[in-house]
Amino acid sequence: MPTPAPELFRFDNTYARALPGCYAPVTPATVPAPQLLQLNQALAGELGLDVARLDPEVGAAVFGGNLVPAGATPIAQAYAGHQFGGFVPQLGDGRAVLLGEVIDRHGRRRDIALKGSGRTPFSRGGDGKAAVGPVLREYVIGEAMHALGIPTTRALAAVRSGETVWRDRPLPGALLTRVAGSHVRVGTFQFFAVRGQHDTVRALADYVIARHDPDLAADPDRYLGLLSRVAARQAALIAQWMLVGFIHGVMNTDNMTISGETIDYGPCAFMEAYDPATVFSSIDAHGRYAYGNQPAIARWNLARFAETLLPLIDPDSSAQAIARATAVIEAFPDHYATSWLDGARAKLGLHGADADDETLAADWLALLAAQQVDFTLAWRRLGDAAAGDAQPLTGLFADAAALTPWLDRWRRRAERDGRSGDERRDAMQRLNPLYIARNHRVEEALDAASTHGDLTAFERLVEVVSQPFDERRGWERYAEPAPREVTARYQTFCGT
Ligand code: AMP
Ligand code: MG
Repeated sequence: MPTPAPELFRFDNTYARALPGCYAPVTPATVPAPQLLQLNQALAGELGLDVARLDPEVGAAVFGGNLVPAGATPIAQAYAGHQFGGFVPQLGDGRAVLLGEVIDRHGRRRDIALKGSGRTPFSRGGDGKAAVGPVLREYVIGEAMHALGIPTTRALAAVRSGETVWRDRPLPGALLTRVAGSHVRVGTFQFFAVRGQHDTVRALADYVIARHDPDLAADPDRYLGLLSRVAARQAALIAQWMLVGFIHGVMNTDNMTISGETIDYGPCAFMEAYDPATVFSSIDAHGRYAYGNQPAIARWNLARFAETLLPLIDPDSSAQAIARATAVIEAFPDHYATSWLDGARAKLGLHGADADDETLAADWLALLAAQQVDFTLAWRRLGDAAAGDAQPLTGLFADAAALTPWLDRWRRRAERDGRSGDERRDAMQRLNPLYIARNHRVEEALDAASTHGDLTAFERLVEVVSQPFDERRGWERYAEPAPREVTARYQTFCGT
């Protein structure tokens, strides 16, 4: 007798209903021995999943793809995308299925999707599978970003499948359950635009407006408005990445969301010593997606998004449409710079705005770059300096004397607001994390989980990065930079 579909979520699947032709119905593949590795209790609670009443076997079966929960409409979404600048007209969910959408406790609509759930009509040559290491990487980095206050998709569950997946070597297979504000990407629009399906582009645009920017729905200029909103969200998002030293690694247009959430943690990493040219991804030979290029790439991706909307922005005059869309794209660098500077001011403990703040921030970064100072610790220890203890900061610099004139300038500027040093430090330390998902700690945790099936280090790391701002006794090793040699040869892989 077939197992009845468990009622885990109250699904309401608007994408499947509203956009026929934008996806292929699929059934997740069955896996031999699903075993729940990790369940995100806090996120489960947000989604109305009653963890206490969830039978772990049912959980493993659902998040392993063996049991489709009641109310789900499993689909693979179509999308295209520019990968490293080259256009690929058909990508799509090649190893993912969207189970459906739920309204969370805060009234937000969220997608629930499986990643690594087997082949779909979009799989091309791939096996549709994922491995334990990359699944847990996406899990922990997503949680780290969330705890840093950065919009992101999140992991609800990680399941070991009990099968072997073949990459350059055999690896234990796994699935990730991913929760997103939506999975619509720039590449989703490109898929239909390149096929000349402008009615579908319009339907898709109306769909995302209703979902993400409902206040624009009645606006006659709503498609230009949508472009502006997406640009604004991306400007704010990339500024946040830059301010924590996050390098996405593969900012293809299919990995840029309309919602403004960070998506697809493949070859991503946090920077250690500050260097804008930092790139970790093994597939990014030319540094297209290097840390310092991210704002420019976001703009480039937004231009690709704008192109898909041109026939909607002005159906009668393509010249007019181009002029209006171009104005939005050209405003992006300013929006980004404003977001970045606002964030940098707060991280520097500065109140108000001063004409010299931009130079002050730039000079700080120049000092970090010149002496290859650990990005995370530098900001954090500047907070200690605000409270009168500059030693932890100067100890990070090989030539501390070079920092002194800048510190004097910064103090004079910071102290104008009349706050006490302790107040300033406390405010700064709520913004400057002590614990990030450092590359050597991530590798250590993934290796133990993948090779030895030991999740202790992984669970610890998730705990640490979930409270990035609060200094804890016993967590010292998580604050320490990787040894230089490790960072120098550190490479991340797409991990598909
Ligand atoms: P990603 O690198 O995850 O952004 O994926 C880029 C494209 O490759 C998407 O269309 C994925 O669905 C597809 N893809 C990645 N890995 C696999 C795989 N193992 N099997 C099938 N498709 C895949
Ligand atoms: Mg992707």
